[in-house]
Amino acid sequence: MPAFRAPRGTRDLLPQDQLALGRLRALGEELAQRYGYHPIATPLFEQVAVFERGIGEVTDVIEKELFLLAPREEDGERWALRPEPTAGIVRAYVQHGMQTWPQPVKLTMTAEMFRYDRPQAGRYRSFWQFDVEAIGDPGPAVDAEIIELASRFYRRAGIKAFTILLNSIGDAACRPAYVAELTAYYREHVGELPPLERSRLERNALRILDSKDESIAALNAAAPKVTDRLCDACAAHFAAVREHLDALEVAYTLEPRLVRGLDYYTRTAFEIFPAGAMGQQSALGGGGRYDGLVELLGGRPTPGIGFGLGLDRVLLALREQEGGAGAIDAPEPTPVGVVVGSDPADTVTRLRVATDLRAAGLAARAELGQRKLGKQLEAAARDGAHFAVILGDELASGNVQLRDLEAGTQRAVALADLARELQRASISHRHGLAADRPEAMSD
Ligand code: AMP
Repeated sequence: MPAFRAPRGTRDLLPQDQLALGRLRALGEELAQRYGYHPIATPLFEQVAVFERGIGEVTDVIEKELFLLAPREEDGERWALRPEPTAGIVRAYVQHGMQTWPQPVKLTMTAEMFRYDRPQAGRYRSFWQFDVEAIGDPGPAVDAEIIELASRFYRRAGIKAFTILLNSIGDAACRPAYVAELTAYYREHVGELPPLERSRLERNALRILDSKDESIAALNAAAPKVTDRLCDACAAHFAAVREHLDALEVAYTLEPRLVRGLDYYTRTAFEIFPAGAMGQQSALGGGGRYDGLVELLGGRPTPGIGFGLGLDRVLLALREQEGGAGAIDAPEPTPVGVVVGSDPADTVTRLRVATDLRAAGLAARAELGQRKLGKQLEAAARDGAHFAVILGDELASGNVQLRDLEAGTQRAVALADLARELQRASISHRHGLAADRPEAMSD
C-alpha cells in the first residue's frame, strides 16, 4: 500500500487516458471553432456568491457539492472551485462589458470542474467538461444549432448510440404557476418524500422532480407536466426549436420531467445519455437556455444558452464500446521517428541527429541508452514509433537508413536530406491513415 494516494473521488489520468482526453478536447475545440465559438478561460475558483446566485441556493450543486476553499482569516472572502462553467463565463461577460460586443457572444471553454459529491462510478470530484455558451440570442434557431453541435460531437467522438432528451421548462411568466401546482401535488404526497426532498418542498418543488432518489420515481412520473402548462410564448418557442431540429434531422426524445439541476434554466433544456442507460451517473452531457442569468449576475437582461458535455463520461462510454478511444475522430498524433545506431556507445551522434530533426519541427526521439541495435529497434517499435533512423558504418559517407517500422521497408537517405525525407514519409503515412478511414475526411 503506497503512503499517499490521489484524493478520494479524483484519479490520475495516465498517458493513455490523458491522450484520449486530449483528443476529445481537440475535437471539441475544432468543432466549437467551426461553429463560431471563441475560446475563453475563467479562474478555477470564484466568489461563492457567483455560484449561489448563478446556480441557485436550493440545488444539489450548492447545498451538497460545492468545493469550498478555506479562507485566510485576513480577507474573509468565500471562494469555491467551479462546479460548472456557465456562472463564471457569464460573470466574465458582465465584468468585461461584452453586452457592447456584437451579439451573440459565442464562447467556449474546456476545463476541469469540481463537485464535492459522493464518489462512485462515473461521478468524480474532479472532471472535465467541454462547454459552449451563446449569450445574447433569444433563439430558437441557436437552441437547435447548439443541440446539433452536441450531437455532432458525440458522433465524432465515436459514441455509437445516444439519446437526446428535450424539454421546455417555461419562463418567469408561466413557471411560477406550474411550480405552485407541483408544490400542491407533492404536499399531498409528503409522507412518501425522503427527508432531503421534503425539506425542498416549500423552497423549490422543481428540485424534487429532478431528484436522483429512485424511491420517488413513480411519484415523479405521475406529477403534473410542465409542457402542459407553458405560456403561449414558451410553447411557440419550444415548437420552433423542434421544427429547427427536425429540419437538421437531429433525433430527440421529448422528456417532460427533465428540469436539470440548476435554477437559472428557462425554456429549452436537454440532456444526452448513452442509448439504454438513463441513470444519473451516465448522463454524457446537458445544457439549456438561461434567459435570466445575466441579469442575476448584475448585467442587463440578456438571453443565453449553452451546454456542458462531460468528457470523463464519454471516455467511460467509449471504453465499454468496441474500438475504445480509438473511435475518436480527431487529428492523429504526429508520426514519430526514433534514431538508433549500430554503435551502442555513440549516444552523442544519436542525440545530435534527433536534436536536428526536432529543430526541423519533426517528432523525434533518440535511443539514449547503450544497448545493442536489435534491442534499440525493439524498444522503438514497443514505444509506438513509426520510423527508425539507423546510424551505421555508412555514416562515414554521409548516409543513414530510414526504416518504416510498420511497412518493414528500408532505404538509404543522405543525412543532409534526412529531415526532408522524414517529413515526406510522415505526410504519406498520415494520408495512408486517412484513406483507411474515409469517415475522417468529412462528418
Ligand atoms: P450537469 O451540469 O450536472 O448537467 O453536468 C453536465 C455534464 O457533466 C453531465 O452530463 C456529466 O456528463 C458531467 N458531470 C457532471 N458531474 C460529474 C461528475 N461528478 N463526474 C463526472 N462527470 C460529471
